[in-house]
Amino acid sequence: MSKRILVTGGAGFIGSHLCERLVNEGNDVICLDNFFTGSKDNIRHLLSNNQFELVRHDVTKEYLAEVDQIYNLACPASPVHYQYNPVKTIETSVIGVTNMLELAKQCNATILQASTSEVYGNPTIHPQIESYWGNVNPIGIRSCYDEGKRCAETLMMDYHRQCKVDIRIIRIFNTYGPNMSLNDGRVISNFIVQALNNQDITIYGEGLQTRSFCYVSDLVEGLIKMMNNSQHFIGPVNIGNPAERTILDLAKIIIEMTNSKSKIIYKDLPDDDPVKRKPDIALAQKELQWAPKVDIKDGLQKTIEYFDRMLKENN
Ligand code: NAD
Ligand code: UDP
Repeated sequence: MSKRILVTGGAGFIGSHLCERLVNEGNDVICLDNFFTGSKDNIRHLLSNNQFELVRHDVTKEYLAEVDQIYNLACPASPVHYQYNPVKTIETSVIGVTNMLELAKQCNATILQASTSEVYGNPTIHPQIESYWGNVNPIGIRSCYDEGKRCAETLMMDYHRQCKVDIRIIRIFNTYGPNMSLNDGRVISNFIVQALNNQDITIYGEGLQTRSFCYVSDLVEGLIKMMNNSQHFIGPVNIGNPAERTILDLAKIIIEMTNSKSKIIYKDLPDDDPVKRKPDIALAQKELQWAPKVDIKDGLQKTIEYFDRMLKENN
């Protein structure tokens, strides 16, 4: 049955894919965004659809609408962008989720919070399971994001216990795909843009740190399954692809796939950069019958084609 769905951060990378999928499934979608990192280009093709509505708004300000479901994705996700105005970042997570929880309470809506693997910080157990409380620096340069997201999880659980709001929490691990912006600053977009321009590939540190990369269509499937699961499983649940690799290995794959002349150069490792990261997805498999399907080479191919188009359009 068709639903009225609010997607905050809907003009961003993940949000735009989610809006498209929800509209295609026949829902009425309100995309709310302040365009800090998102872009109208990501959702331009939906603007003529009368089931889609775009609202320029900041989640740190109250917002009222009659909706059945809320996906709360509004928050810059790339370290470069979330560290640009760290006070605003933490406000976006904490005040933003509070506003959305108040809205969910008023409308009796289900609310899903896009949390993050960053709640585990620099993890001391590997792979990361949901019962792990994490190893997070509360006063470092990543804290505005990590602690903001941790506090948002707390608020979700407290509104659930205290006000009986119907909640879902997912912890998203590194996700990539088309609609990332050219200046996104995260590793896959940086490496692909550098490789396509035959510029130096910038590895921070020695490149031996690991990440596990999930293609965006797999993630969106996980978001929707979590929101609509019939047994009212609230999470938190990890959604990510457990295929772990080093950043150096990723650079080599991208150089090879783009047939690039780029050379690898090494730069300083930013403070508190997690040494390793890999989701344990047993809980998502059990509760949601969800597992990622897209192999890294197929996902990278689609992402490379997207950035190639973007670079040509921008030249
Ligand atoms: P993104 O930066 O592309 O999208 C975030 C969107 O939120 C943008 O459209 C931005 O303009 C909007 N936004 C930011 N602050 C806002 C505010 N105050 N009010 C309204 N809109 C605001 O990032 P993304 O990768 O699409 O991430 C989406 C969500 O998923 C974020 O909450 C992020 O923390 C979470 N997440 C993403 C990843 C990943 O690897 N992509 C990993 C973990 C968690
Ligand atoms: N990274 C890198 N070169 C870049 C961008 C990132 O070596 O141009 C590294 C970064 O230091 C981190 C990893 O790649 O170890 C993933 O970084 P990203 O910003 O994509 O995500 P996060 O650190 O939040 O997982």
